Amino acid sequence: MKTKYSILVPAYNEQEVLKIFYDALTKNMDTLKEDYEIVFVNDGSKDNTYLILKELAQKDKRVKVVNFSRNFGQQAAELAALRYAVGDAVIIMDCDLQDPPEVALQMIEKWKEGYEVVHGKRKKRKGETVFKKLTAHVYYRFLRKITGMDIPTDTGEFKLYDRKVVEAILALPEHNRYLRGLATWVGFRQTSISFDRPNRSAGVTKWTVKKMIKLAEDGIIANSAYPLTLSIKCGLTLSVSAIIAFITFIVLAIVGINFGGLVAWLFPTVVLLAGIILIMQGFTNLYIGRVYDEVKGRPNYIVSETINIK
Ligand code: UDP
Ligand code: MG
Repeated sequence: MKTKYSILVPAYNEQEVLKIFYDALTKNMDTLKEDYEIVFVNDGSKDNTYLILKELAQKDKRVKVVNFSRNFGQQAAELAALRYAVGDAVIIMDCDLQDPPEVALQMIEKWKEGYEVVHGKRKKRKGETVFKKLTAHVYYRFLRKITGMDIPTDTGEFKLYDRKVVEAILALPEHNRYLRGLATWVGFRQTSISFDRPNRSAGVTKWTVKKMIKLAEDGIIANSAYPLTLSIKCGLTLSVSAIIAFITFIVLAIVGINFGGLVAWLFPTVVLLAGIILIMQGFTNLYIGRVYDEVKGRPNYIVSETINIK
């Protein structure tokens, strides 16, 4: 029988939750009476994660395990899982039951209705610090603004992808993949399912502030040239301010007010010079942005289907 669904699960030091997760997931997935696989990626865990996964895989052939040589991070683990998955629809989820298996079933229903990307949208986020909730809230809105992409807010990695979407994402040659951005960028028929995100069933979060900052940086740099445009904007602001200052000084001089003597002219001169340098740097940045785009090598378009074309 062809594997219909692939559940992709990155796991880093998750010995406390794996069995609980496996039981809850299989209990739900079995109700579908369709074939599925669970692809775990052990992301260089230092605890018994790998041993537990091995045991699960021995008992249940639907469990597949990919073992990383060290900790490469959740994004890398998900990418690997996408490469190994064979299902017609794949769902990426955490193994701490913060992404509830019942919601995975709802995602599958949406897929059956014809949607090709289903985002899990968090309504409430239990057990997360105010800092994390606030930074996530601000960050995703900022990202939407600067990328101009319709990235759904309050979503994480918990998503369903149709096989076509998986192939489209895997075909992208870029190295630094920010899956949350790509999930929107590739297009296709998209929808969201809202759910209340519960507490971790056991263990602690594996996301340190350092890792979060790196991910936030990836999200911006991989999807937007906005930071590169800042220099030209600053340069223009400085230059215009300096020119306004010059005009003011000239008008004052004409009406006979000698404001601060010659030294005063030095100030707008320096500001104007700084502005011109920033504008020049800005032009270089525009080219760097283009070079970056070319290096990423993303296709100009992705075709979802064709009619009467062989
Ligand atoms: N994870 C991973 N590698 C890492 C960090 C996390 O594979 O370096 C996995 C982790 O085991 C979990 C998922 O990614 O299945 C999400 O991590 P976590 O639940 O700690 O993040 P949070 O839900 O707190 O944002
Ligand atoms: Mg979690």
